[in-house]
Amino acid sequence: MFTKILIANRGEIACRVAATARRMGIKTVAVYSEADANARHVAVCDEAVLIGPAAAKESYLRADKIIAVALETGAQAIHPGYGFLSENSEFAEACARNGIAFIGPPASAIEAMGSKSAAKSLMEKANVPLVPGYHGDNQDPDFLQTEADRIGYPVLLKASAGGGGKGMRVIESSKDFKDGLASCKREAINSFGDDKVLAEKYLQRPRHIEIQVFADTHGNCVYLFERDCSVQRRHQKVLEEAPAPGMTAERRAAMGEAAVAAAKAVGYVGAGTVEFIANQDGSFYFMEMNTRLQVEHPVTEMITGTDLVEWQLRVAAGEKLPLQQSELRIHGHAIEARVYAENPEKGFLPSIGTLRHLRTPEAVSFTLGGAAEPAAFRIDSGVREGDTISPFYDPMIAKMIVWGKDRQEALARMAQALAQYQIVGLHSNIGFLSRLVTGQAFSGADLDTGLIERNQASLFPALQPATLSTLACAAVALLRSEQSTGSDPWQSSHGWRMNSQLQRNLEWTEEQQAHSVSVTYLAQGWRIRSAQQEAEVRLVQASGNDIVLALGEQTVRATVVRDGEFFHVFSQGQHSVLQYQDALAHAGETEAEGGRLTAPMPGKIVAVLVKPQQEVKKGDALLIMEAMKMEHTISAPHDGVIDEVLYAVGDQVSEGAQLLAFAQ
Ligand code: ADP
Repeated sequence: MFTKILIANRGEIACRVAATARRMGIKTVAVYSEADANARHVAVCDEAVLIGPAAAKESYLRADKIIAVALETGAQAIHPGYGFLSENSEFAEACARNGIAFIGPPASAIEAMGSKSAAKSLMEKANVPLVPGYHGDNQDPDFLQTEADRIGYPVLLKASAGGGGKGMRVIESSKDFKDGLASCKREAINSFGDDKVLAEKYLQRPRHIEIQVFADTHGNCVYLFERDCSVQRRHQKVLEEAPAPGMTAERRAAMGEAAVAAAKAVGYVGAGTVEFIANQDGSFYFMEMNTRLQVEHPVTEMITGTDLVEWQLRVAAGEKLPLQQSELRIHGHAIEARVYAENPEKGFLPSIGTLRHLRTPEAVSFTLGGAAEPAAFRIDSGVREGDTISPFYDPMIAKMIVWGKDRQEALARMAQALAQYQIVGLHSNIGFLSRLVTGQAFSGADLDTGLIERNQASLFPALQPATLSTLACAAVALLRSEQSTGSDPWQSSHGWRMNSQLQRNLEWTEEQQAHSVSVTYLAQGWRIRSAQQEAEVRLVQASGNDIVLALGEQTVRATVVRDGEFFHVFSQGQHSVLQYQDALAHAGETEAEGGRLTAPMPGKIVAVLVKPQQEVKKGDALLIMEAMKMEHTISAPHDGVIDEVLYAVGDQVSEGAQLLAFAQ
């Protein structure tokens, strides 16, 4: 076995690999970019070496530097994690040339599966079923359009070199084809450096079911069953679970064997995932093979009682697979939720910022490999409170994985864990995940890749007016902070206080809703009134941000985190954000909305679609920017005329930068 490995990655997966290495007594070397000098993965490894500036191209993608660090530090092997260099065959080859073990498949297998198009041709020969489509070399737009017309709409265009749900476009009709192709190719070249695309039939209500395979250098290859990853937004997984609901033993064996055949066809070694797209009737088609450890590997670990990183290390060191097919069993049910820094209400736009407050569910443990009962909860994360989610890398904050003896128990634990997850400082998808997990579609296992879109109404409910309980929590937190800073006008000894009624009004807003809260000071506590409701409120207990209130007969437990004028109230699994309208601080301030179009995040302009003096209609696309590896279209908020375009294609823009001037 190796005594020292280098982890060529960052974030949660680097920490995840380091945890297993430590358990096995293997030393770890981290590499990091300037943006990650204080990152968690740097702290958890035994050594850490700076490899370059924040941009991945200049750091985490610099194969030469990473190999040099491995040689200097005496690491015998490199674990690439996922993303970055994990599916780069040249990197795998360069490792081999330098006498370093690449913890992954041979370069030839990566290459064979690296292009979705080439992999499909290979699978066609191995008789693995494929979705009807075109995956050849001819990239002439007219030819591709003819192929799409032949396949029949809707058609899905995919970047052949793509991954992570990027570089895909659904084309609804022939007239939209050319625009969609141009945009798909643009994203493909920007994200993957290769604009080759393939076209295939866009299936209706399909499920994404993938098989975990594992092979060693002794000719053994097994499958560790399936994961259902149907719940996706923007073709990117949000919830994953194992086993797949409704899977029969026969179909599991058929898919497992097809996946093993696919792996064997390319001489596979190590951990791999064969992705299938399945119709509701159970028929399935090969989509692609990911030649690395998947983000969602923990659900498989939980139901099989294995540590797949340990398996990877053993296989890379030349050992045999720890278990044979006949020894592998499914035990219970596991679900993973990906916690993202993003704003679901704004089309899942990534959100960047500092995790000012981060509290994760209790009872977190990390027990793998040989434990009789898997841990009920597991959180794989690369960040801590105070860390920043930057625009340079993937905005995933953590993966939360739960295990239960059956799906129902796992669901209940997931709902409970999400209710305890608190984040302040940036937008997260926690509330959205809660609604998703407790919603009828997911809890009833009515799964397909359109689940989120089909359930828009229940997943994005209108904001409920803040309850008296929530308002009381925010009010008490405000009063406490005034007391501690001595800024509470009712605590000070101004003469006018003597004759006043000891009452004041606090004005709050939650999104667009205004709340007027009147507070009357009592000998013990306050009388708090909002709209139609009122109650006597007493502070029973307080410790840091945690408070317990007696609200009439009710006991209310809450965590209230103040972030400037925003009060984040976490109570009963709900997160409400109330903005305190301090009349003195903001006299006369109003926010003008029209006329300015600003960058929602730092990024690069990739297309300018309008010219000065051009008339545009509400909703027209004006400009396209690329940020966090995705394209964002800036559209006209209303009808009007373009005054000025302030940036050109290729320009970098910072968050909040004005992009266009626009007259009504
Ligand atoms: P990536 O490598 O970017 O993850 P995949 O080829 O694995 O791309 O596809 C990602 C997702 O896109 C799938 O999980 C599925 O939801 C959807 N998808 C892919 N192909 C099709 C198709 N032919 N019809 C319908 N949905 C599809």
